[in-house]
Amino acid sequence: MKPAYDVIVIGGGPAGSMAARYAAGRGASVALFEKDREVGVPVRCAEGVSHAGLAAVVENIPSRWIAQKITGAVLHAPSGAEVPLHTDQIGYILHRKIFDYDLAQMAAAAGVAIFTRAHVTGLIMEQGRTAGVVVDHLGERRRIEARLVIAADGVESRAARWAGLATRTALADMESCAQATIGGYQGDPEMLHFYFSRSMAPGGYLWIFPKGNGMANVGLGISASAGGERSPHDYLEAFLARFFPGASILGRVCGGVPCSNTLKELAADGLMVVGDAAHQANPLTGGGIVTGMIAGRIAGETAAEAVAAGRSDRETLRRYPKAWLAGEGGKQAQFYRLRKFVFSLGDEDYDALARSVLRIPVEKRTILSIMKSALLHKPSLLLDAVKLFT
Ligand SMILES: Cc1cc2nc3c(=O)[nH]c(=O)nc-3n(C[C@H](O)[C@H](O)[C@H](O)COP(=O)(O)OP(=O)(O)OC[C@H]3O[C@@H](n4cnc5c(N)ncnc54)[C@H](O)[C@@H]3O)c2cc1C
Repeated sequence: MKPAYDVIVIGGGPAGSMAARYAAGRGASVALFEKDREVGVPVRCAEGVSHAGLAAVVENIPSRWIAQKITGAVLHAPSGAEVPLHTDQIGYILHRKIFDYDLAQMAAAAGVAIFTRAHVTGLIMEQGRTAGVVVDHLGERRRIEARLVIAADGVESRAARWAGLATRTALADMESCAQATIGGYQGDPEMLHFYFSRSMAPGGYLWIFPKGNGMANVGLGISASAGGERSPHDYLEAFLARFFPGASILGRVCGGVPCSNTLKELAADGLMVVGDAAHQANPLTGGGIVTGMIAGRIAGETAAEAVAAGRSDRETLRRYPKAWLAGEGGKQAQFYRLRKFVFSLGDEDYDALARSVLRIPVEKRTILSIMKSALLHKPSLLLDAVKLFT
């Protein structure tokens, strides 16, 4: 480990590996610090991505990343009604462990020095500007200087807060998740399932993502403010007992996803924040793999340019939030409003919606037509929606 780098990236998830790779690819000397023993482990994810999303951020999608191809989805209402969706989009359930490893390896190939068991415990601050990190690596504490630090430290992020950015997530916007990977899954392996119900997953939804080879990720996210006395684990147990009694459980994870608008400030003097740490997951779905990679790429390129220009002040780093908002980030606010709308519905609303959507021919049954149906068939929803969308 050198005493100084141009850029230090904190966190070896998809956002951090992309940021590091693109900064190094444009000539910066870059170190990436990951606190865990291995990049990508433990996997706290249902591992779903769309083909279009992934293809937008990687040149080639290697087959070893893909556990299962997905060609369709079914929405389930509280009454038990099933609403198959029309989609011409393909998706994948990834092998996230392999995927995260490969993204880190691509960064290494671009020249990034990667260190695992390297826990960043603080920032070096000089006159209000981030100038490096304090890192515990293999039992030794070091101070490593940097012209720029990129905080990609995920949902548990503290680095951006240390640099003075406002990073608080309202409890209602934090999705608390629990997931089990089950064996012996006998459903259609190419079909995703989503369950919407206040009583089964308040402020969120349940999912079944088939992982191929008879496995499936079965999980849920609930709003941290809506669960009451019951934990996500309790809700998951109830779901498993009802739909998969006696299923073999191959693994369990829990975790959280901030599902709010992107942070107001994504850069401070000497620091940028990306991925879950910057609240860049889609607030409606909680999907943050691709959005984090998009942001990571922009932040990495911005970092390299800033280093080349010999500047790392907040003004110079504005290229990153500007480019984020001009692209993927520009949709965040709309998805956030949709989130509030969808998760404000009660079980009767979901059932009424399912009934009206089932009248739409399946080939016309898209997310947009469902939203339209929600507004047209239930005037009280229309009122709610008007409040939310204006
Ligand atoms: C149950 C669950 C299911 C999900 N399902 C999906 C899905 O199907 N599709 C999807 O797109 N998204 C999904 N997500 C969200 C997705 O996992 C995240 O959005 C994505 O991993 C964010 O990437 P990231 O690089 O920002 O953060 P992470 O992948 O969380 O990486 C952050 C890294 O930083 C490291 N780190 C943290 N602090 C420090 C420190 N101080 N020093 C050094 N290293 C540190 C962590 O160990 C971690 O490796 C799911 C999340 C959960 C919890």
